[in-house]
Amino acid sequence: MHEHASARQAVEAMVRRGDLEGLLRSAEVIHGHLCPFLALGVKAGQYALTHLARQGHGLEEVVAIVESNNCFTDGIQVVTGCTLGNSGLIFKDLGKTAVTVARRRDGAGVRLVVRSDFREGLFARYPAAGPLFDLVVVKRQGTPEDRHRFQHLWAAVARRELETPLAEQFLIQNLTIQVPEQARSFGGVICQRCGEGVTEHRVRVAEGQPVCLACAGEEYGILTGQGIVWVKES
Ligand SMILES: [Zn+2]
Ligand SMILES: [Zn+2]
Repeated sequence: MHEHASARQAVEAMVRRGDLEGLLRSAEVIHGHLCPFLALGVKAGQYALTHLARQGHGLEEVVAIVESNNCFTDGIQVVTGCTLGNSGLIFKDLGKTAVTVARRRDGAGVRLVVRSDFREGLFARYPAAGPLFDLVVVKRQGTPEDRHRFQHLWAAVARRELETPLAEQFLIQNLTIQVPEQARSFGGVICQRCGEGVTEHRVRVAEGQPVCLACAGEEYGILTGQGIVWVKES
């Protein structure tokens, strides 16, 4: 037996056997709570991987293109293994709850976008959730007890939504994408002003010397709850 079995095998086994409940629990580890959009990310990721595996040679290396940085994206990262840190995750700042998962070798992929009537349908299926969501999430009010009740209800909704047919939640489309080249950043340049290491493609030259964007006073993107915004070091 190989002793260095990948820690990811447990997740892949859950993907193969369609263990959505187990995948949701795994996603909760990084997401911090259970919610319906996390469940949707888990389902979309599991569907995409098994769909592509059926057409190809089993589970292969994929990239995931997400179109929003919300709860859904954490489900996608955990299930597909495409993360911000391993450059498998590509972020398109469109503000849509959607993902495209594609094989790295040939770009064959599938895009799932949450149906525009999903939210309305969700609150219709769980009438108690709407007013609490409004109070606790939208208005950020309510007593600690309200928040506690909401967390329990929302977690129960998430588990129930694992069983809702995928077609009621998503529009699904097969497509082929141009897979971006795998970025390799080594951080091998030293900024001549602050002395910190910087990756090659974030270096500017000022007075003949390599400097980081912060020291150069140039704009750089930051990803916040509002999406990507462009800022300058002040
Ligand atoms: Zn969430
Ligand atoms: Zn610097």
